[in-house]
Amino acid sequence: ARGSLAGKVALITGASSGIGAATALLFSKLGAGLALAGRNAQNLEKIGHSCFQASGVKPVLLTGDLTKDEDTKRIFQGTLDGHGGKLDILVNNAGIIALGGIQKATLEQYDRLMNTNVRSMFHLTQLAVPYLIETKGNIVNVSSINGLRAFAGVLTYSISKHAIDAFTRCVALDLADKQVRVNCVNPGVTHTELHKRAGLNDKEYEAYLKRARYTHALGRHGEPQEVADCIAFLVSDQASFITGACIPVDGGRH
Ligand code: NDP
Repeated sequence: ARGSLAGKVALITGASSGIGAATALLFSKLGAGLALAGRNAQNLEKIGHSCFQASGVKPVLLTGDLTKDEDTKRIFQGTLDGHGGKLDILVNNAGIIALGGIQKATLEQYDRLMNTNVRSMFHLTQLAVPYLIETKGNIVNVSSINGLRAFAGVLTYSISKHAIDAFTRCVALDLADKQVRVNCVNPGVTHTELHKRAGLNDKEYEAYLKRARYTHALGRHGEPQEVADCIAFLVSDQASFITGACIPVDGGRH
């Protein structure tokens, strides 16, 4: 394969939808060998097929629930098995949102958000680190503008995203002497399935997207491809002096 990621092996979580799917498609166009993880096998097949059409190379598809430790281990092993035991890039993207501030959020919701968004990232990163040290590879975590700033009514999500930013900065320092870079992207409102899955109906979601006209300086919401572009930059050699960075991709959220 030709392209800036030719010869690189990348594992992308949450590749069956939204930002992860856009990242998978872009990475395949850039020539990376891919392992794509998600829960929904049908969606994963669809994305895998689009990648194949774009690049002529079939990604390894790995279904599983990253809140289950056994599934996470199996997904990681499947990545190695499919790519000759090598890994260059880990994109920790899988995540969920839930609505509610301190009066509405529950402990159950707290556990669900932290397990899905943070614990799974911690686990998968630990599995990947020895292999990333071998290749002097790198990691991109998908956080949120909620990781950098406070907003009302999304408490457990914000806690989890602040944790992702802290995790990113700390692991970047832990691995710097191994020349493994670790960064995160912090998207603003991006058009995906995320909010509908948290219970917003079509009308509410439409209104939420429209509010981005006022809350984002560029006057619109973002598209998954625009986040994928930033991820592709961060994993590339063009970003060789960037580590521990949390980069907003938010159209100037204000
Ligand atoms: P989507 O809901 O479209 O995609 C989420 C992805 O995560 C899906 O592929 C889903 O898999 C996967 N996933 C969720 N839970 C699990 C789990 N337990 N195990 C394995 N995979 C899981 O949303 P986005 O593309 O928007 O979300 C991607 C990331 O971007 C998230 O971390 C989100 O917080 C972040 N983000 C999104 C923003 C937005 O406005 N959309 C803004 C800021 C950040 P499957 O569908 O197969 O179940």
